[in-house]
Amino acid sequence: MNYSELAPPYIRAIAPYQPGKPIAELERELGISGIVKLASNENPLGASPRAIAAMHEAINDIARYPDGNGFELKSALSQRYKIDTANIVLGNGSNDLLELAARAFLAPGDKALYAAHAFAVYALATQAVGATGISVPATKDFGHDLPAMLHAAVQHKVKMVFIANPNNPTGTFLSAAELLQFMRALPSNILVVLDEAYNEYLPENLRYDAVSWLHKGNGEAVGHPMASPLRELNEFPNLIISRTFSKAYGLAGLRVGYALMHSEVADMLNRVRQPFNVNSVAQAAAVAALGDLDFVRQTCEMNQRGMAQVTQGFRKLGLEFIPSLGNFVCFKIANAQNKLNASQAYRRLLELGIIVRPVANYDMPNYLRVSIGLESENEKFLSALEIILGKNIGQQILGEAA
Ligand SMILES: *Cc1c(COP(=O)(O)O)cnc(C)c1O
Repeated sequence: MNYSELAPPYIRAIAPYQPGKPIAELERELGISGIVKLASNENPLGASPRAIAAMHEAINDIARYPDGNGFELKSALSQRYKIDTANIVLGNGSNDLLELAARAFLAPGDKALYAAHAFAVYALATQAVGATGISVPATKDFGHDLPAMLHAAVQHKVKMVFIANPNNPTGTFLSAAELLQFMRALPSNILVVLDEAYNEYLPENLRYDAVSWLHKGNGEAVGHPMASPLRELNEFPNLIISRTFSKAYGLAGLRVGYALMHSEVADMLNRVRQPFNVNSVAQAAAVAALGDLDFVRQTCEMNQRGMAQVTQGFRKLGLEFIPSLGNFVCFKIANAQNKLNASQAYRRLLELGIIVRPVANYDMPNYLRVSIGLESENEKFLSALEIILGKNIGQQILGEAA
């Protein structure tokens, strides 16, 4: 007997998530150090010194279970977003929250909808509970086609729609106006999970405040500390906004995220989460990180410079890329001019000590995704790219670096 047959067919059908290759793994394989990992959209600046100090402090109490209600972190988030703590659910990374949403609301026979090339976890979370995933073709620029998603959601009577803004791996972005139009047209018994893992990276002119959409009417906060969550009359009680401390806050290894939603929706997510799903060190670090606005600002500024550096490099090399509003960018490595396919290019970059991310599993077989790193890391990446493309302007850039 094959033990996999004991698992339900929908579990057996799951194609596991493919994480970025860890640095230590490539070091073991190549026997070299100095590897540059630009594969998981991590913060190349590390974490806020305040968060690190808070972790050291929290270690002293590590024998205790964490606060299962996350009082301190929820209070900090409540103040930041002017929202009641009953509207907040904490997660072991925002990945946990995506799964909790699926687990709380989807059952076998239910349908969930997401865009082609959207973050892989939406499909995984849907499949893991035996629900059916529907992928809606993207626009010609790899972005979410919201009108098509609206149509499909109604037509297929789906229960949940996942939207990533900006999306990973494409970096594509939906404006506030497009999102609002979608939300207003969507029947309110369809839940929307708006995944804003890269929200902090948005430039000033594109910023929007989805959290205000959870407030009553046009912006009147329901989040007064004394307000009863039961009296909420959100404009969009079907909206779940998820955010993470893994990206701009630089705490990916800790696993902590949060989601904001109507209290009745939050109640359902809380019923299926582990009682202690966010560890105590993570909770303490997240509170400190949330307060370090300077660190997030530095991160975004560095990301903007790095994005300009990397995309300029692509232009010099004649490589197409998908304009991105995240801390990563997809570029078309396999084209008519070179004889490389994306997986060959990925492997050759690995040999040169550079880890990027293949995206063939996102139906983008000719692309690779690179995370924006420190200036020096971006430079190493571009130099390696020139080497594998056999372009002699590589020498020029290496020369400039020296
Ligand atoms: C990275 C990422 C997340 C989840 O990250 P966590 O570390 O689990 O918080 C969620 N959504 C998107 C689109 C991401 O890229």
